[in-house]
Amino acid sequence: MHFRPACRLLALLLCSGIAVSAHAHGQEINIYSARHYQTDEQLYGEFTRKTGIHINRIEGKEEELLERLRNEGANSPADVFITVNAARLSAAHELGLFAPVKSKVLEARIPAHLRADDWISFSKRARVIVYAKDSVKPEDVRNYADLADPKLKGKVCTRSGSHPYNLSLLASIIAHRGEAAAEAWARGVVANFARQPKGGDTDQIKAVAAGECGVAISNSYYVARLMRSDKPEDQKAAARIGVVWPDQDGNGTHINVSGAGMLRHAPHKDAAVKFLEYLASDDAQRYFADGNNEWPVVPSVKVANPALDALGNFKADTLPVGSLGMYRAKAQMIFDRAGFR
Ligand code: FE
Repeated sequence: MHFRPACRLLALLLCSGIAVSAHAHGQEINIYSARHYQTDEQLYGEFTRKTGIHINRIEGKEEELLERLRNEGANSPADVFITVNAARLSAAHELGLFAPVKSKVLEARIPAHLRADDWISFSKRARVIVYAKDSVKPEDVRNYADLADPKLKGKVCTRSGSHPYNLSLLASIIAHRGEAAAEAWARGVVANFARQPKGGDTDQIKAVAAGECGVAISNSYYVARLMRSDKPEDQKAAARIGVVWPDQDGNGTHINVSGAGMLRHAPHKDAAVKFLEYLASDDAQRYFADGNNEWPVVPSVKVANPALDALGNFKADTLPVGSLGMYRAKAQMIFDRAGFR
């Protein structure tokens, strides 16, 4: 979770404010967000300047916000829920929290495979393979399938199999290759573990740089963040690793998203649609994606990000984001059976 103590305090203040006072003048919108980046602040401010709609924002951990939405039920003041990862957005969908939005703007600007039944993606991240330049050859890690190959025995590091990032990756493998192949892959990766899964993606990258692992799986923005860091130790770590866009001769590199949906009991539905359409605008797309070293979902919007530019172009998987959610539960069962914890 991308979250700092100051935000928790802000969340508490907003929480208490939201319950007792409606905005005194004009329109308002209530947003529950499990995504927080500094640049998102500018984004929200710009929306209010453009539309006059005041934003009340509650930030919290994904599970806390989902629990809160369930408890509030039809009395929830929340209009829009924002979070990262298709598996989590699908969880909100399965709980029946979202309402579909009909919008010509969203349909025109966001490619169909990045929209689900009742939620929409606003930025893209890729799940890449990171390798130690001094001990692993890039040609040995060109595809996700290589991670399960015995040639990488004792070399693979990853975060937990119950984390949404890995669940979505496995969901994409189920969608492309079927359950049996996905399970064989999961077992192969477990057999290649350098250590039991622990920590987040950045911990895996640093373990590769430190020589504890030969190979790791990571979301692209953690790599970009390390590359853009001013800290000498981060720059040293970045210099020791190589990055591969997996599956370039196949389905393309696995893509995940940040996204949002309008809530079923939203008290301000018109404002909610305006906000979602705003997130698809050129300026908002740039802020939303670049603030976390991600890519916009609107194809015509480009960001100039030195770290992402340095990583180069790649072929991205165009599997519909809804499929990632559809296979999420199966993915968890397979990881459990395979001992990928
Ligand atoms: Fe993350």
